[in-house]
Amino acid sequence: MIVQMKNALEFEIHTRLDGALARTGTITTPHGTIQTPAFIPVGTKATLKALRFTPELSMQIQHGIGADITFAFDELTTLFHDYNYQVESLEQRTHPWAVRSLAEHKRLNEERSHRPPQALFGVVQGADYEDLRRQCSKFLGEMDFAGYGLGGALRKSNIGNNVRWMCEELPEDKPRHMLGISEPDDIFDCIENGADTFDCVSPARVGRNGALYTKFGRVNITRAQFKEDFTPFDETCECYTCKNFTSAYLHHLFRADELLANTLATIHNEQFIVKLVDDIRASISDGSFYDLKKEFLANYYSKK
Ligand SMILES: [Zn+2]
Repeated sequence: MIVQMKNALEFEIHTRLDGALARTGTITTPHGTIQTPAFIPVGTKATLKALRFTPELSMQIQHGIGADITFAFDELTTLFHDYNYQVESLEQRTHPWAVRSLAEHKRLNEERSHRPPQALFGVVQGADYEDLRRQCSKFLGEMDFAGYGLGGALRKSNIGNNVRWMCEELPEDKPRHMLGISEPDDIFDCIENGADTFDCVSPARVGRNGALYTKFGRVNITRAQFKEDFTPFDETCECYTCKNFTSAYLHHLFRADELLANTLATIHNEQFIVKLVDDIRASISDGSFYDLKKEFLANYYSKK
């Protein structure tokens, strides 16, 4: 169902976590509502990144696809680029490209006024430098974006601080989408410091190698112990894989190099992340966030 909306995206904040930047809310797009924090796979950005376009062409392609949420064209730097390079990247590319992306986005929304409007998110860069993350957040925060992508090079051990630097500067009333979280434990740090939505490539990436998420960490289904285990991989999991197949069957598919193995593993891993983020959202609402975080991390790393 398509909802008639004046704005491409609306965001309402419901509850806030005491002493941190975490919040729960609702994002409304023309195609429906999302309760946040939420795991929402956003595929288009990664695909476009691989190609070198102009900001205008990038916007035209994203509008052509019809995605509810689109992203400004930016330069993705790495932690290996030095400070001077990061400054030059922001001043000469990411900031001017954000201005051009927004102008083209407005032109396209007007040109296609018969279709549901699309929302454009600015993307914050600045690698692991606090001053640059704050500068970029302020610069983009003053522009008329519907929300913000928290992007680029992030050091795992500093991910919470980095997200906090950005979220302290960005406008509070706009949603923040974390691009490319790596592991389940990072999700706690990102939410605690103000991220509202995420995508995450890990469920598919680790799933390809037979690694399945459990609350006690990742377990590899190719291990010999699963060869004759005719029970579901996780009895408590609601995913299609666990509801319909046994561990022994998954083990066999991986050993036989069947493509279906990747799909079934990814389904389970994505469900694990969805459930985790659902639990975190509930814990912010009822005030048990820090208890959940402590319990989850203690279990998740108990075998290491
Ligand atoms: Zn499952």
